[in-house]
Amino acid sequence: MSERGLLIVLSGPSGVGKGTVRKAIFERDDNEFEYSVSMTTRQKREGEVEGVDYYFRTHEEFEAMIEAGEMLEYAQYVGNYYGTPLTYVNQTLDEGKDVFLEIEVQGAQQVKEKVPDGVFIFLTPPDLAELKARIEGRGTDSPEVIDERMKVAREEIEMMALYDYAVVNDEVPHAVERIKDIIVSEHYRVDRV
Ligand code: 5GP
Repeated sequence: MSERGLLIVLSGPSGVGKGTVRKAIFERDDNEFEYSVSMTTRQKREGEVEGVDYYFRTHEEFEAMIEAGEMLEYAQYVGNYYGTPLTYVNQTLDEGKDVFLEIEVQGAQQVKEKVPDGVFIFLTPPDLAELKARIEGRGTDSPEVIDERMKVAREEIEMMALYDYAVVNDEVPHAVERIKDIIVSEHYRVDRV
């Protein structure tokens, strides 16, 4: 077994349910991997907690992190920065623990370049119409933001080729099981032992 932990990247179009699937995974107590909390400049939503859902920072603070080389990856998404602080990921992998990222596709592409032996999982919607309904059903976004998110989503689906696995998010518990199975299997790959 390799000594360093595995970097597991869950990505896919916004609105596909990445956040919901990730939360369902981390509500379980049988996970043998750690969640890397992302940093963002977007407004905190109702019920979100600093340091649990995100590290909420100003544009200036985020850009200072980028300048200092302290982000593993980052992206601008619908007017805000989102990114993965590097130190936590490196320390945790060095301790031999697996780290789980839930990020959008531009960030996943950067991680793929830096950590090619990561495990890249793409969460797909059953179809785009359902994706639109889900985004609208969330009720938090304006029509302009929904249109922007749909445009980004179509492009993102074309990017699936970058990934090792595609998981359809038809039912959250099914997607969770498939993702957990993938992570377990990765530890038995001949090229990792
Ligand atoms: P939301 O604003 O709905 O929480 O997130 C918007 C998008 O940003 C989602 O697709 C989410 O997966 C993505 N995201 C969250 N954290 C990160 C991160 O650290 N890096 C990148 N590149 N995307 C992120």
